[in-house]
Amino acid sequence: MLGVCDLDLFVPGYNFIFGEAEFMGTRALISLYRLYPQFWGEPPNDAILLERAVKEATHEIGHTFGLRHCPNKRCVMHFSNSIWDTDIKGALFCDNCQAQLKAELSRR
Ligand SMILES: [Zn+2]
Ligand SMILES: [Zn+2]
Repeated sequence: MLGVCDLDLFVPGYNFIFGEAEFMGTRALISLYRLYPQFWGEPPNDAILLERAVKEATHEIGHTFGLRHCPNKRCVMHFSNSIWDTDIKGALFCDNCQAQLKAELSRR
């Protein structure tokens, strides 16, 4: 289950988070709050908002399938410390993460 909210989320130790998920669980949550270009002083842009939301949703769902943060900055499982990290990374899993995901899916 993926929840999508419009509130600014945080967990202890972080000023904010883009999303959260149950590791190897069934529930994930993303917030659009800091994904809007307007939040960062840029003009509204639905295409950019959608691209960011897809990346963050895929990332959190990846955690529910047991994927951890990936050192590859282009991989969707790379940890986003800022919106720039989100914009730099792609919407897809790198070869490593994809192989792990396939292995996990074959166990289910
Ligand atoms: Zn993460
Ligand atoms: Zn990866």
